[in-house]
Amino acid sequence: MNYLYDLWDDFLSLLFPRICYGCGNHLLRNENLICTECYVVIPRTNYHIQKENPVAQLFWGRCLIESAAAFSYYNKGSRIRNLIHNLKYKGIREIGFELGKIYGLTLKSSGFTDNIDIIIPVPLHPAKERARGFNQCKVISSGLADATGLPVNTTSFERVQASSTQTKRSRYDRWVNVEGIFRVTDPDSLGGRHILLVDDVITTGSTMESCVNELLKTEEVKVSVVAIAFAPA
Ligand SMILES: [Zn+2]
Repeated sequence: MNYLYDLWDDFLSLLFPRICYGCGNHLLRNENLICTECYVVIPRTNYHIQKENPVAQLFWGRCLIESAAAFSYYNKGSRIRNLIHNLKYKGIREIGFELGKIYGLTLKSSGFTDNIDIIIPVPLHPAKERARGFNQCKVISSGLADATGLPVNTTSFERVQASSTQTKRSRYDRWVNVEGIFRVTDPDSLGGRHILLVDDVITTGSTMESCVNELLKTEEVKVSVVAIAFAPA
């Protein structure tokens, strides 16, 4: 029976090939979303075991964080960039869960998440989240939660303003531009906690910086930050 099932499976995959969202190659029967080759060759930053890494350095002199890390690099044409594009712009949200899970296992086994209490995804403005249908950072966070066993909080921190595009602005303008964008709505649920703040891609760090400064207004809060990919500006 199994043999017949496999034949049928092969026949279906001829008609409807399943492809890897990272490289476009056909997936094997036991693969899902991301092929084994992508899983192996996607470069890891290993920033989680390097305290003074380039992502942590982005925040030096800007806001106080406990630690910072990113899973991979956001280079043009890279597999991780393809994956994030398929997640954000093609709406394949399972990719976010999978990437979060892969990274979460790494972070957990290294002890990076040992002192973390809750995971908070960088919020999208409600109008943007409605338009996209989901928040990619929330999906990534649920993968991280699945791997680490940590809870995700999506209700105590929100985005109150949609910001304009940041890429052509100076550092000072960006800073002015992100002040007051985020708001803690339930300080009681965050007080005294070590928060892991999650974004999909980190570039200048200004969005994260704005989040961190807002979160730190709550009593006794500590913040660490992670992203799936780092794109040096
Ligand atoms: Zn692949």
